[in-house]
Amino acid sequence: MRADPVEQPGSSAGEGDRRAPAAGAHARGLAGAGEPLVQVRDLVKHFPLTRGIVMQRRIGAVRAVDGVSFDVHRGETLGLVGETGCGKSTTAKLIMRLLDPTAGEVRFDGRDITRLRGARLKAVRREMQIVFQDPYSSLNPRKTVGSIIAEPYAIHSLKRSKGERKRAVQALMETVGLNPEHYNRYPHEFSGGQRQRIGVARALAVKPKLLIADEPVSALDVSIQAQVLNLLSEMQRRFGLTLVFIAHDLSVVRHMCDRVAVMYLGKIVEIGPAEAIYDFPRHPYTGALLSAVPVADPTASRRPRPLLSGDLPSPANPPEACRFHTRCPKAQERCALEEPPLEDKGRGARAACHFPLTREELAAIGVRSAR
Ligand code: SF4
Repeated sequence: MRADPVEQPGSSAGEGDRRAPAAGAHARGLAGAGEPLVQVRDLVKHFPLTRGIVMQRRIGAVRAVDGVSFDVHRGETLGLVGETGCGKSTTAKLIMRLLDPTAGEVRFDGRDITRLRGARLKAVRREMQIVFQDPYSSLNPRKTVGSIIAEPYAIHSLKRSKGERKRAVQALMETVGLNPEHYNRYPHEFSGGQRQRIGVARALAVKPKLLIADEPVSALDVSIQAQVLNLLSEMQRRFGLTLVFIAHDLSVVRHMCDRVAVMYLGKIVEIGPAEAIYDFPRHPYTGALLSAVPVADPTASRRPRPLLSGDLPSPANPPEACRFHTRCPKAQERCALEEPPLEDKGRGARAACHFPLTREELAAIGVRSAR
């Protein structure tokens, strides 16, 4: 593999501020330095529920994202975790402006991008890219890998000559561990892991500042998952990317993230440094997710059952006050009457819970990280 086949971001004049120097998931010292790259404030996305075909009547709304606020610092990896349907992918699409928010604000690199349109939105979109969950449906089966990876060049009018594009695409293919000679092959000729590498190469083509990986390994075999995670970590370190990593499994993001935000029914219920969240989660939902992580332990069969039971309530009709109270083993009367604020629980972490977990309770549900 060549040392660095892709033009290094920030190497050209005027691009020097586009990336953090040698950052990456483990550049913890950088996280929090200066203004955050992404600032999300009170973000809301409600999808209307309608009845009728000709005369459509609004009968309610799916509250997919319901008042979410967080920052993503330059060069860090933020893990966005929660069960399917909790609103994490919708949050990602709102940040990228693939969806218009119902309310709230998204600031990117110091600019309010919430209401941008046309050419100005297109220019911002060049700075943020996404890798989708399903490497099978996210690539056009009728296009060659070369034209798929070159697509962003066409959209953003970059590298106009055919030869220049081909050289850039082949360099990208080599960077992500694909054989550049397979430039003219079609997606069906690649394995799932290789297809996800194609998705990563396409995302890196326009040298984004922010990369959102939306459950990038969920559709892959376990044996391939580690390769794709390593690739994302390597790309982040190499190009100083800021990474938002979406997953439904806390164990997947454990070794990648500087900070973790846990979502439940459209709200963030706990957020903080990864060490704090994994060592001493305070929200019962985070504790339940951690207790459900399988461990290679011969005594595991004697462990208590995970404390999370039942299905996720409908986001069209979420429970009042604390949304987790219908499933929470610690729920008390106050939980159904009063919404808990997202407040400081120590070690830089915040949780929305009136009766946060204690270390004894964590140990009782078999969360091994509790000391
Ligand atoms: Fe459970 Fe009450 Fe905390 Fe909600 S506020 S997570 S119901 S203990």
